[in-house]
Amino acid sequence: MLPKSPQDHVTPASAAQPTADPLSPPSPWARSAAGANTFDHAAGTVLPTIYERTTAAAIAHEAVNLGQGFPDREGPEWLRQAAAQALTDPAVGPSNQYAPGLGLPVLREAVTEDHLRRTGISLDPSSEVMITTGATEAIAASILAFASPGSQVLTFEPHYDSYGSMAALAGAELVGVPLSGPEFHPDMDALEAAVTERTSMLLLNTPHNPTGTVFTEQELRRAVGIARRHGLVIMCDEVYEQLVLEADQQHRSILSISGAAEVAVAIGSAGKSFSLTGWKIGWLCGSAELVNRIRGVKQFLTFSSGPGFQWAVAQGLQDDRGFFAENAASLAAARDLLHSGLHSAGLRPNRAASGYFLLADISEATDLDDVAFCRLLAEEVGVAAIPVSSLIIQHRSDQRSADAPDPLRRLVRFAFCKRLSSLEEGIDRMVSRLPKVL
Ligand code: PMP
Ligand code: GLN
Repeated sequence: MLPKSPQDHVTPASAAQPTADPLSPPSPWARSAAGANTFDHAAGTVLPTIYERTTAAAIAHEAVNLGQGFPDREGPEWLRQAAAQALTDPAVGPSNQYAPGLGLPVLREAVTEDHLRRTGISLDPSSEVMITTGATEAIAASILAFASPGSQVLTFEPHYDSYGSMAALAGAELVGVPLSGPEFHPDMDALEAAVTERTSMLLLNTPHNPTGTVFTEQELRRAVGIARRHGLVIMCDEVYEQLVLEADQQHRSILSISGAAEVAVAIGSAGKSFSLTGWKIGWLCGSAELVNRIRGVKQFLTFSSGPGFQWAVAQGLQDDRGFFAENAASLAAARDLLHSGLHSAGLRPNRAASGYFLLADISEATDLDDVAFCRLLAEEVGVAAIPVSSLIIQHRSDQRSADAPDPLRRLVRFAFCKRLSSLEEGIDRMVSRLPKVL
């Protein structure tokens, strides 16, 4: 029997029976896929992620790819040269053999110094920092370390896709607290109200993908208070920490909040900080105790990766040569261009305060839902974007929709981490073609 909904996939480990049919009861692979809305229920097979599917659609329809969140130009040349030198010159870089499980000491020290400079947090590089294979591995290891089978894991919706997949793989249930536009600030009362005796973790993401919301210090304090009162672990995904685009807003790391040390870990990524998403170098910071526990999983996912890339990222964190400020300024200009372009095309975008993405409300322009709209946009208009319903917990959205259509299903995510010429082309196509096809 095929699983009906991701909820059906929450099988306590004790209840799992060996079976010849990998779908009955749902196997780990099917749970993992369904948790991120990538299980094809009809075919019983796994779909690529929404990001990959959107990029494939962009290529197939020669659409401007405003879907998957990667910059369409290379990261800083000096940093790429540092990596090349690290890989080829043994007098400069590390060995090309296994890096230590916690990561190269030089990078752990650079992450420590960077945290101290920006957030005032003092970490011990020997025990409170762990280098990971992208933030993705840090997220996976944290969730697999603390989301016990049968427990609930809370997050705000929409959310990054891997949270749902990893929670489901752990045998836990992801429960979402919806963010509401146009501000998309988290409702901390609703978060606390959603805590039950089964809750094991809070998964936070600030600055937030896809809303661009930068959580305030007050919001983070509330989160730490909730975690401490209810005995929860906080995983705070901070990969957009260097990408705050508004002068009056500032990224606050969860670790800078008093009382966070016992309950929270923070995750960063060189991919986002340096526009080098393919390098897959991330890090996880927190108390020695939490880092040690997460290491229990991480060292058997990849053990370690890419010493040459780790070494180069350390050089970049030690001295970014002005890149972070320049990058944030050019992203802000790109955000402004896309914001006004989407307006001209009849959509209602938010003004994201951070990151790579704008969310556009399509409800004034069309009766189509986000999925149908994105299909039309790629096929008929020549612009690829992400339907936000792929970043929510769909069976819960179905329950919400029983009363009124879920507003999260009327949002479309557009990436502005692209060349201005790509954005201009995308905007031209939307302004001229959208009115004809809607
Ligand atoms: N978290 C969020 C919120 C993201 O948008 C991304 C994509 N960069 C990741 C985690 C994954 O990061 P990485 O590419 O370093 O694995
Ligand atoms: N973080 C990127 C995004 O949100 C995509 C990452 C990926 O493709 N896995 O679009």
